[in-house]
Amino acid sequence: MSSWARVYITRMPPVSSIPPRLCLGPGPSPVPPRVLAALAHPTVGHLDPAFLALMDEVRDGLRHVFATTNPMTLAMSGTGSAGMEAVIVNLVEPGDRVLVGVNGVFGGRLAEVARRAGAEVTTVDAPWGRTLDRDALAAAIARTAPHVVAVVHAETSTGVANDIAGLADLVHARDGLLVVDCVTSLAGMPVEIDAWGVDAAYSGTQKCLSCPPGLSPVTFSPRAVARLDRRRTKVPSWYLDLTLLKSYWGLERAYHHTAPINMLYALHEALAIVREEGLPARFLRHRAAHERLPMLNAIAAPAGVDEAAIRRRLLDDFGIEIGGGLGDFKGKAWRIGLMGHGATPASVDTVVAALRAALA
Ligand code: PLP
Repeated sequence: MSSWARVYITRMPPVSSIPPRLCLGPGPSPVPPRVLAALAHPTVGHLDPAFLALMDEVRDGLRHVFATTNPMTLAMSGTGSAGMEAVIVNLVEPGDRVLVGVNGVFGGRLAEVARRAGAEVTTVDAPWGRTLDRDALAAAIARTAPHVVAVVHAETSTGVANDIAGLADLVHARDGLLVVDCVTSLAGMPVEIDAWGVDAAYSGTQKCLSCPPGLSPVTFSPRAVARLDRRRTKVPSWYLDLTLLKSYWGLERAYHHTAPINMLYALHEALAIVREEGLPARFLRHRAAHERLPMLNAIAAPAGVDEAAIRRRLLDDFGIEIGGGLGDFKGKAWRIGLMGHGATPASVDTVVAALRAALA
């Protein structure tokens, strides 16, 4: 029998063959049944009036979690990295000066995305596991007068939170825009886009929003939109071009690309759950479950322990996923995420007991 024939007659294994896991890694987080049920709701067209009304509600829910009144707030198709790329390619033009705070993998990724957009990138680095130094950032802003300053709020690779409040004044004084990565922080700890003067921020659905990965909430201040409107060059990515996408999310409702309808159902439900719980209660719940970053604990693996083997044992014997170290922390650390639906004392007890048994 030819290999082609074999392809046609072989039955694909059902998705139900994937074992259930307790997702306590750096994302995705556990998805509550209500969100999974929303995902399974029958698909309608992306210009269906009922769906367009749901998009408006998603936008309202996103404004609530971002604490903003920004009209340009929407969910980009794609994961958190799509939001990162969208913010950078829309706000940066070739030759622009971009300053990035780097104290982990995701600051490094931001710098790389800005370089690929043709920016002249300067980084302000801090050792992994430490916060960015405000004086060093202020000195670099004064020295380079950047068009854009970009900082990760919650650095998922190390479990460190960078302070954002007060940064915008320094950036705006040199006529720059402040960009913040809120992928891990949004809906798990206070994010105050308007009060902090943030010009553009992006996040992901699979962390503290407890929704599957697939959408990236973004928000742009009027100052950022004015920069977008003044561009000398076209946005280099057609798919992520907000000058086009805003017509679909705005009043015109003009087709740009087919929205991932069911993911938007799921995000709508996840945002409804956030509203019901209330942001202050949700932040407290995350803080109660954690020691450092309220949603992600980076833990040094004991000397002499094969950290990857322990993670594998947690997965195989207990059905629990946790993350390994990235970059400088590869092979040396575990990253235990307690995000969204997973941020509970029961999750902490479960993972601690399983770790204890795996290490015994
Ligand atoms: N930024 C931060 C802080 C992250 O933690 C992540 C993912 O873990 C990303 C960006 C990229 O998001 P994604 O993997 O959803 O593309």
